[in-house]
Amino acid sequence: MNRTAAGHRVIAIDGPAASGKSSVARALAQRLGFAYVNSGAMYRAVTWHVLQRGVDPHDANAVAQLVEHSSITCRLGEPESEIAIDGVNPAEHLRDDRVNDGVSFVSSVPRVREILVAKMRGLAEEIDVVIEGRDIGSVVFPDTPFKFYIDASPEVRSQRRAAQGQRDQIAVRDRADSSRVVSPLVVAKDAEVIDSSNVTIDQVVDQIVASLRAKGFR
Ligand code: C5P
Repeated sequence: MNRTAAGHRVIAIDGPAASGKSSVARALAQRLGFAYVNSGAMYRAVTWHVLQRGVDPHDANAVAQLVEHSSITCRLGEPESEIAIDGVNPAEHLRDDRVNDGVSFVSSVPRVREILVAKMRGLAEEIDVVIEGRDIGSVVFPDTPFKFYIDASPEVRSQRRAAQGQRDQIAVRDRADSSRVVSPLVVAKDAEVIDSSNVTIDQVVDQIVASLRAKGFR
């Protein structure tokens, strides 16, 4: 099926940490006039909330209990989707070291994923979206024909994070994200894999737009 129940299109962009997928997804959304949904930011916001409430990110039961009793609202925004938890939007904390360290644990809790996946599907009923993450093509929107997996060499990815001035153990996160039981990072079987190591964001976007056209996207 090409469209959501409400008739909107979904372009799924998955890939490991620092693969360039956020920059690509944002630029692609801008070029096509679609909304940009950053699902990683949603998992990061929930992680921040868990930490703020003094809950141990490794304690899956306590994390599930907390999210169950929290009010989570997601909405489309400019330049990207926004999330508020119990009325607070933690946008400026999403890249904190402790969030980087805890997010893979929190995102492996099935109840967290159920809640956030429902929010993502809700956003795609409002408008055409480009949505990036780890399981968008495999689990969240398996029926969209528009799926891309952005990758880059480990060296390039580490350099990109370092250039952003972040302490982020991307290899550790990738291992956790790829090996978890629920919705691991995988290349969806019908996704087109694009290596962004030696090309610019614009070149990746050009390649995606050309492929979309070849698939009948108008
Ligand atoms: O994309 P970003 O690196 O900001 O994602 C942060 C973390 O959120 C990932 O390492 C992963 O644990 C989790 N995530 C996920 N599923 C998604 C998007 C992100 O589990 N669709």
